[in-house]
Amino acid sequence: RMKTQIFHITDPAAQREEIEAAAEIIRRGGLLGIPTETVYGLGANGLNTEAVTHIFEAKGRPQDNPLILHIPDVSWLTRYCRNIPPAAYRLAERFWPGPLTMILQRRSNVPNVTTGGLDTVGIRCPNHPVTLAIIEAAQVPVAAPSGNLSGRPSPTCARHMEEDMDGRIDGIVDGGPCGVGVESTIIDLTCPVPRLLRPGGLPLESLRKVLGEVAVDKAVVAPLSAGERPKAPGMKYRHYAPKAPVTVVTGDSRRTARYIRRNLGEHTGVIAFSEYVGDFPGCIVHDMGSVQDKGEQARRVFDALRTFDDTDVTAIFAQCPSEDGLGLAIANRLKKAAGFQVVDLGEGEE
Ligand code: AMP
Ligand code: MG
Repeated sequence: RMKTQIFHITDPAAQREEIEAAAEIIRRGGLLGIPTETVYGLGANGLNTEAVTHIFEAKGRPQDNPLILHIPDVSWLTRYCRNIPPAAYRLAERFWPGPLTMILQRRSNVPNVTTGGLDTVGIRCPNHPVTLAIIEAAQVPVAAPSGNLSGRPSPTCARHMEEDMDGRIDGIVDGGPCGVGVESTIIDLTCPVPRLLRPGGLPLESLRKVLGEVAVDKAVVAPLSAGERPKAPGMKYRHYAPKAPVTVVTGDSRRTARYIRRNLGEHTGVIAFSEYVGDFPGCIVHDMGSVQDKGEQARRVFDALRTFDDTDVTAIFAQCPSEDGLGLAIANRLKKAAGFQVVDLGEGEE
């Protein structure tokens, strides 16, 4: 067990000493919890094989599941990637810093352990002033997956990161709660038609406005059958799972609320839209935000999945948003938590 140092950084320009101390942990090969706009990450020097190996150990993460390399601006792309298509620069111009990870061909200076042995690398410029300042100060790219123990919901605040990582890593930088709340959107730019590998904080519709056609990887919408290999290795693992089994109910929100009410058992937990939180007497209900407010739902979805673990619920029902905008990412996280156990009631008035 190691002592995990906590840094509180609200103003990177005024707190140069704290930024330097955090950057020093990265530079010397340590592990640092970092705030980003999506979720908290578990960062290390992405060029240091030993440091990156420690990320996998601290999380209990399978070695074939690659990490995302975080850079402070687009000018660093050519250091770690080659054969960069013009589309990458168009996307960076429009969406960086922001919740978009691009898959590109890697250069040989990026170690195998960072990319899970792939000849591509996932790369992103996060939109968080504290973490940008730390990467700038460290002058190395920071490899970081989400800061949870493998299989647990991603942390959206420093306290969640402490729950999972206290005693396992050198430090955690508390930069406030995450503004987006779900991980980055991952787009593969190494195929003839750009391919969405993971829906996330940047909506698919926004990508299509810049790129035109975008294919959607099968792992995004359906469970994989045995032996199938998704292009984003992380998509094959059971994820975000609370201890109690989850059932996701899709369709018109009045119908899904009624269905859940009729199927309540003892000790049932419900993840419900704000409009319906009063409809489940005797249950532990987690408010996901208003039906129309997908930004709020994204910020709350992991919190909802995490909080049931401190209760005695034995089953969880979740109302699910429609799949436009951020809804695609929210629905994907709920369905993965449910192992794709979904009841679809359909849309529209009855
Ligand atoms: P996390 O940030 O914990 O969600 O982990 C990073 C995600 O990025 C995982 O789902 C990985 O499978 C995915 N990823 C990282 N690098 C690549 C790559 N080169 N090709 C495909 N997926 C990647
Ligand atoms: Mg993760």
